[in-house]
Amino acid sequence: MKIACYASGSVGTNCYVVSDDAGITAIIDCDGDPNPLFSYIAQNNLKPTHILLTHGHFDHIGAVAEVRERYGCTVVAGAKEMRVLTDPAVNCSLYTGGAVTVQPDVLVNEGDTVQVGQMTFQVLLTPGHTEGSLCFICDNALFSGDTLFQGSCGRTDLETGDWGEIMESLKRLKALPGDYHVYPGHGPATTLEAERRSNPYM
Ligand SMILES: [Zn+2]
Repeated sequence: MKIACYASGSVGTNCYVVSDDAGITAIIDCDGDPNPLFSYIAQNNLKPTHILLTHGHFDHIGAVAEVRERYGCTVVAGAKEMRVLTDPAVNCSLYTGGAVTVQPDVLVNEGDTVQVGQMTFQVLLTPGHTEGSLCFICDNALFSGDTLFQGSCGRTDLETGDWGEIMESLKRLKALPGDYHVYPGHGPATTLEAERRSNPYM
């Protein structure tokens, strides 16, 4: 499994490009200008088949339509996130430069898995930042969206956010057995063990 990261869009959202040995690729969240992403995909001869969305905020879905159209990707999102994905007021796109919505192809719930080539992504429902926020685990990688950041966690003051819920979600991540490389929705990558030791919200 190979992981590349592009920070793009108005608030520097991490877009992850996760590929197996055959080049079959999942794209996790995407905002802003997708052209650097398209170049990377072309240069490495990758075949994107899925877009996995950690949640529905504007800065994670802004480039979904373009990427989906270009590659014919299947868009996967949380069943409990539909209100955020489909309401521009709730996902804040209405106030940040233009209404954006996403209609996913596949809705997933806690415990589901998504197969992308040789890679199996395990779905964790981790509400709090939004009501349907997800984390995805694949091998030793944890894609944590805006639930867990290096030294911090996602805000809960936007619509469908809930402080009590994100605390429970972080407790749950903390209790996962073993260690993971953590790839958050914003900021640098970290490890779960480093966050267990030093993240004040954990
Ligand atoms: Zn967010």
